[in-house]
Formats: sequence, C-alpha cells, structure tokens
Amino acid sequence: MAKIQTPQPVRGTQDIFGEDQERFSHVVETFERVRRLYGFKGVEMPVFEPTAVFARSLGETTDVVSKEMYSFEDRGGDSLTLRPEFTAGISRAFLSNGWQQHVPLKLSTHGPLFRYERPQKGRYRQFHQLDAEIIGAGEAAADVELLCFADQLLHELGIADGVTLQLNTLGDAESRDAWRDALVEHFQAHKADLSKDSQDRLERNPLRILDSKERQDRPIADSAPDIDAYLSSEASGFFAQVTEGLDACGVSWTRDSRLVRGLDYYRHTAFEFVTDRLGAQGTVLAGGRYDGLIESLGGPATPAVGWAAGIERLGMLLEEPKSIGPDAVFVPLGEGCEAAAQRLMNELRRANISCEMAYKGNMKKRMQKANAVGAAHVVIIGENELANGVAAVKNLETGDQREIVLTGLVAALAKK
Ligand code: ATP
Ligand code: MG
Repeated sequence: MAKIQTPQPVRGTQDIFGEDQERFSHVVETFERVRRLYGFKGVEMPVFEPTAVFARSLGETTDVVSKEMYSFEDRGGDSLTLRPEFTAGISRAFLSNGWQQHVPLKLSTHGPLFRYERPQKGRYRQFHQLDAEIIGAGEAAADVELLCFADQLLHELGIADGVTLQLNTLGDAESRDAWRDALVEHFQAHKADLSKDSQDRLERNPLRILDSKERQDRPIADSAPDIDAYLSSEASGFFAQVTEGLDACGVSWTRDSRLVRGLDYYRHTAFEFVTDRLGAQGTVLAGGRYDGLIESLGGPATPAVGWAAGIERLGMLLEEPKSIGPDAVFVPLGEGCEAAAQRLMNELRRANISCEMAYKGNMKKRMQKANAVGAAHVVIIGENELANGVAAVKNLETGDQREIVLTGLVAALAKK
C-alpha cells in the first residue's frame, strides 16, 4: 500500500505547546487582569474583513497592504482579507455598530493576525497580539493612560527591565505635511545613495525611509531634519502634555525623533517599547494616535489612540515559567475504586483543588505518572481503603504517607 504523506504545517505558523504555551497563557492572563484595572472592555472581532477595511485605512502604499496581506476571493466573489492588525477592524466595528454613543470607548482584545512575511525567530505568518484602543478621546490624558497601561503590563510580566519606551510625535496634519516636504527635499538630494526600496518610498511614503533597516540608508536617514522645527504650537503643546503625564506617573521614556510607524494613519504620539534581547525583532509593543483613521473609513472625525503587542515576543522575554502540577493525582486500584475516585475528584475540583487520575498501569507506573506531572500529592484508593472509608495520601515533596478519611479529604488537601 502506498505510504500516506503526513501533511506539513503552513510555513510561518506555530503549534504552541508545553512551556511556550504556558508563556503565551501567562501573557494573555496578565493582560486580561491589568486591562480591567484601567477600565478597558473586552471585544471579540472577526478574523477576516472586507479587503477595503485594511486597504483604505492602513494606506495602499504601506508594506502591510502592498506585500503582506492574505487576501482572497470567497465563493460569493467578495474580496476578503485575514486581519493583519486589529485597529482597522475595531474602527470598522465602531462604525458598523454605532458605538459613537459610548465614547470615549476603551476596548481591548487579543488573538491571531496574519501577515505574509519572511518567517524567522519572533516573526511568523500567523502571530498573536494583545491590543488596546481608546476611541473618541482627543485628550493627551488618553495617550498617557494607554502608555501607563503598557508600562504596568510589562512590569507585571517582570520584563520591564531592558525594555525602553521610545516616544515621538508626528505632529498634526499641518506639521506632518511641512515636515514631509522637508524630508522629501533632503532625500531627493541623496537619492542616488538610497537603497532601491527607499528610492521607491521617496515617491510613495517618504517618512518610512527614516525607519529603514538598510545599512546604506542609515546615514541619510540619521541626518534628515527632525520634526521639531515643523511642529505647530498646538502639536508641541500636545506632546508636552503627554510627556508631563508620563513623568508624573513615573513612566520612563526616551525621545526618538526618527521613530515613525509603518502605517499611514498615525498623528501626534507614536511609540514603541523596544528591547535588544530579541535581535532584529526587538519591538515588543507599539502604537500611537490615529485621529484620521475612522474618517478614512467614511465615518465622522473621531480621535483615537491605541497599541498592540506581540504575544510571542513578550512570551520569549519572560523568565522560565514554573510549571505547576496538580494538587493531587488519584490512583484507584481495585473493584469499585475508580468510581469512588471519580466522585472524590469531583468534590475536590468543586473546592478549587486540582486533581487528575492516573488511568492505568500497576502501582509503580501510576506513581511515575504522578511524579512526571509534578503532583503535590498522590491519593491511593484500594479495595481495603475503600472498605474502611479512607485513602492513603502521600505527600510527594516530603515522602510522608498518611491515612485520611474520605470525608476529610477536601480539608486535608485544601490550599493553606
Ligand atoms: P516589525 O517592525 O517587527 O515588523 P511592525 O511595525 O510591523 O513590527 P506592528 O504592526 O506595530 O509591528 O505590530 C505590533 C507588534 O506586533 C510588534 O511590535 C510585534 O511585537 C508584533 N508583530 C508584528 N508583526 C509580527 C510577526 N510577523 N510575528 C510576530 N510578531 C509580530
Ligand atoms: Mg512589520
């Protein structure tokens, strides 16, 4: 018979298991706890949207839209795209559902995203993000609150050391346009020395040259004019309010006047939390203010600010997780013992005590299983024990073994 080929995973996808999965869950659980402290409501979003949702809002010329989207025609002939980011879909939902009535609206979500990128460590084609957005608030206080949330999250994950907040302002539309003209002039003068990609960007998206990772672009990008000379007084006043708020909260930051974000919709505040512990994949959390986005989707002018963080990248920075085994593993041996164990385990779990059963094998095999999963106790129920209404409970840490009456098991195993 011909051998059946086992299917391969799609390139750039991950099957997250074991320690990696524990890291992943820990990041998500910490995020879910901290977002409540800041009053962010959870929202669940579709994984795909009409292609126009991303094409219009991210900007046709951005890398994500021009090279990285998973777009396809469905059976009805509609062009759909697997979401490459959350913000555009959340903005679409804001408009579809009339959430204007709730502004300012603080929303958070997490889940998978899809980008056709060159896979490497910390860069996948299906990856996962945490996301936080404040929609309908033009106040600098919203930027400050979001950044405090991000900073607290990194502290609670225990990874704040070695991660720095780099902050910039892209000004309002007026400042940004004036700066853009100055940049174009500067880059035109050095056009011949720019990389091929950056020569293209000069026509389509000159700000992105500042962000270029090509070595030959760096001296030209580094000598480009700062936005500061082009900031309107309103825009610099806004930025000052953001930095004063951060200082008041003790959130440390550094100014990076070269920081621009990859997507077209950003205004005013732009930021990244960066580490040098992940090589080229050093940005763990990034975002900014996107006051123009909802309008670009045909909605009313609506100021908004948000960030997203890569769950895998945060997970890689975590200390090695302590794997926590169950409070007890049950070993039923003999007639009627399995049913008794099942009943007792139900009782324990309802009392918040975790337990598992070693399903089969002799005593030795089952004890090995209990050790392998890192159980705190083994509960042995044999026919004799059952007849006497007791169980033999062994503490795997100390090696002590005692007889406990079945009615006292919950009390004996309850967490102190
Ligand atoms: P990069 O410069 O690394 O490509 P980006 O600017 O494209 O990042 P954003 O769109 O701002 O990233 O996404 C926010 C965060 O999501 C990033 O800081 C990173 O932690 C994570 N992220 C982005 N793309 C990927 C990916 N392909 N695989 C894993 N994580 C990613
Ligand atoms: Mg990218």
